Amino acid sequence: MDEERKHMNVSLKFKLTLSYVLLALILVSSFLFVSNYVLEKKFQTYIVHTQEKKNQDIVHLVTEEFGENGEFPDMEILKSIGNTAVTQGLILMVSDVKDNQLFCMSTLDSRVCDNMLESMRSNMAGRYPHFDGKYVEKDYDVVKKNKKVATVTLGYYGPYFYNNEDIQFIEILNKIFIGIGLIFLIIAIFLGMYMADRMSLPIKKVIKKTRQIEGGNYTERLDFDSGTIEINQLIQSVNRLASSLEGQQLSQKRMAKDYAHELRTPLAALQSTLEAMIDGVLENTPERLEGCRTEILRLTRMLADIDKIVQIENDSLQVHKSRFDVLSVIRPVVSNFQQELESRNIRVEVGPAPCEVYADKDKMIQVVVNLLSNAIKYTDNGGKIEISAGKYGDWVRLTVSDTGLGIAAEDIPNIFDHLYRTDKSRDRNTGGSGIGLSVVKAIVDAHGGTIEVKSELGKGSVFTVQLPLLK
Ligand code: ADP
Repeated sequence: MDEERKHMNVSLKFKLTLSYVLLALILVSSFLFVSNYVLEKKFQTYIVHTQEKKNQDIVHLVTEEFGENGEFPDMEILKSIGNTAVTQGLILMVSDVKDNQLFCMSTLDSRVCDNMLESMRSNMAGRYPHFDGKYVEKDYDVVKKNKKVATVTLGYYGPYFYNNEDIQFIEILNKIFIGIGLIFLIIAIFLGMYMADRMSLPIKKVIKKTRQIEGGNYTERLDFDSGTIEINQLIQSVNRLASSLEGQQLSQKRMAKDYAHELRTPLAALQSTLEAMIDGVLENTPERLEGCRTEILRLTRMLADIDKIVQIENDSLQVHKSRFDVLSVIRPVVSNFQQELESRNIRVEVGPAPCEVYADKDKMIQVVVNLLSNAIKYTDNGGKIEISAGKYGDWVRLTVSDTGLGIAAEDIPNIFDHLYRTDKSRDRNTGGSGIGLSVVKAIVDAHGGTIEVKSELGKGSVFTVQLPLLK
């Protein structure tokens, strides 16, 4: 089965060329068939028509030779007319009104007449193997002064026949047709190869690109117009694939860097403390040991967090979109925080009108939870939080603003990184781990959206998420 399949796998070029050639063959042969048929029919009518004319000419010649009162012409003259007739495939016979045969070419020169008839027969048999032809005779009256004076009988191979020139004419015509057919065939082959090249060239480029992607090179993009809708779509898909792989590669690199950074400093501190205690430089007190244990526990928690991030970021790449109103998602989230909000006397206002989005509902809930919990965490008692959603052009914009601590300008570029926490937040001992915003960013990215933050220390922060509307 596999073997069979292998043999059936042929290149696009071969297939396309073959189909062009087949098409040309069908067209050319049907053209040949129809034209040959039509032409042959026309030619036959023409032959039958000229046959009658030739007969009339001979009869006319004979009539001319008769006297005014029906006197019979000279035998020699009749013989010379008979010879002319033979060259035209006709056997001349003349009889008087009483049906007595006075002149007969075949009795006069039977060899020439037989040869002539045989040649006509073989011409026709050569051309039409099933031609139903035989020797036929046709009578014509010789009329002088409105009186029939004799009968001219013409014998020939009927119902019609081709002489050598006719046969030659038909053969030349056929050769021309076959020549035209061959030219069409050659054009079809070249056209097929050309079209196949035009089609397969962009596909080959795409294949080359996907091989590069396979090899881990995600940076380059295909940027040519193939002129074919489907191939252009393929190019776009490959570019999107490369982009998303590039994004994943970057985020993995970033993650690895973040984690290494986060782990290196505390591990180095632990190491030097323990070494100092082993060397006796530091006294081995229960408090110091307890300090080391706490640090190790913290690192263990951090590793668990890292595990969680990897899990969540992988999940966030799989979005199951549906249409829903964002406010219907925001309200229940807010009410879950109600107790804390009341105890800390923080007011929350949820934006005015309903606003439809096309997104993954669970992941949007996660985004709102993370942004709102941050806003609550970093806002002093008595503060105010506003959440709103609205359409702006082709985007849906979700805004969470607070009157909290704010974020220092130098921290803003980093707050979406894994495990990044500002010093202020560490001071606050919020119990945050620096995961929340990186998860929000991963989700927003997976939706093809953007997230921005505007903030001023001491005044508050505004987080803006934009998602494509997708009609
Ligand atoms: P965390 O668990 O520390 O809150 P996040 O990833 O959610 O981690 O946030 C990263 C950092 O960004 C926080 O440590 C905090 O310093 C800062 N941050 C986030 N949201 C706000 C906010 N609404 N106001 C002030 N700072 C914020």
